Amino acid sequence: MTMANPNTSEAIIGLDVGGTNTNAVAFDNQLVELADLHVPTVSGSVETVADSILETIAALHDKLDGTPLASVGIGIPGLVDPSAGIVRHAVNLGIADEPLEIVNRVKVEFDVPCRIENDVNLAALGAHHVLSGEYTLCDLAYLSIGTGIAAGVILNGRLHRGGRGVAGEIGHFPLSSDGPLCECGLRGCLEVCASGSAIARQWPSTGPTPPIESLIAAAIAGDDEAIETLDRIADHLARAIYLLAVTYDVDRIVIGGGVAEAGTRLLDEIENGVRRLENQSDFVRSLRLTERLSLKPAGAVGALGAAVLARLGGQP
Ligand SMILES: [Zn+2]
Repeated sequence: MTMANPNTSEAIIGLDVGGTNTNAVAFDNQLVELADLHVPTVSGSVETVADSILETIAALHDKLDGTPLASVGIGIPGLVDPSAGIVRHAVNLGIADEPLEIVNRVKVEFDVPCRIENDVNLAALGAHHVLSGEYTLCDLAYLSIGTGIAAGVILNGRLHRGGRGVAGEIGHFPLSSDGPLCECGLRGCLEVCASGSAIARQWPSTGPTPPIESLIAAAIAGDDEAIETLDRIADHLARAIYLLAVTYDVDRIVIGGGVAEAGTRLLDEIENGVRRLENQSDFVRSLRLTERLSLKPAGAVGALGAAVLARLGGQP
């Protein structure tokens, strides 16, 4: 007779629906990974996105040898209403006018509770789960540098959304009034100066190498224009770090998002930007910002955060 493992008696599925790919990971109730699935994200309409999410959950569940599903968590890049369980706007997925009522669809299809949240918030939750296992960590900000820029904030171990759900949305904070015009209407927003798309605009690269990596390589090779461009971008990102530190005074600021794939060389540049600020100000130096900085933990922190949220259960 075999004893059932109490940890794998039920599975929690976390989905991180990205603009290009969807990471789906199944965990046991101790959040140990059981199986995963990576599929291209299907965008276009509310129906196609919903069908694709349901199919992905079903396909991953099929890999679990009959382990019953306990709950589902979903992270989506866009304007998410967690309490209503809907996505109101997600440009990358083609959701604009009609809301995506995904929580209800999952409940009907699988008869389990489901929760959704903005993808950056869930990456913050996932990173916090990993890092709080390594040392005592209450407060964390996750700065996602991707197509856009936004931060997810964890305070006292809980996701901090703020009264209107915009806590950490620093991408449209204007760093200078005479910078490039941002689509939000302001000039010099952090996002229009230092996001992945802003980097690609300032350092267009051909071929498979991401712009940030070819920019760093050119700067290391001594290209004056690359050095100037990289310093400028690093200065902007250093100000984002500083902004998160003085608004939330978090113990740790984690750098994530597509641009963070450039790894430690990007982190080195951001730290150089922080030191340039420190050289001008005893106050900034007193904040010891570089000691709080790190790259995102390895692994699918977005899907993990989705499972953390699903495991919490109840109302958001
Ligand atoms: Zn803006």
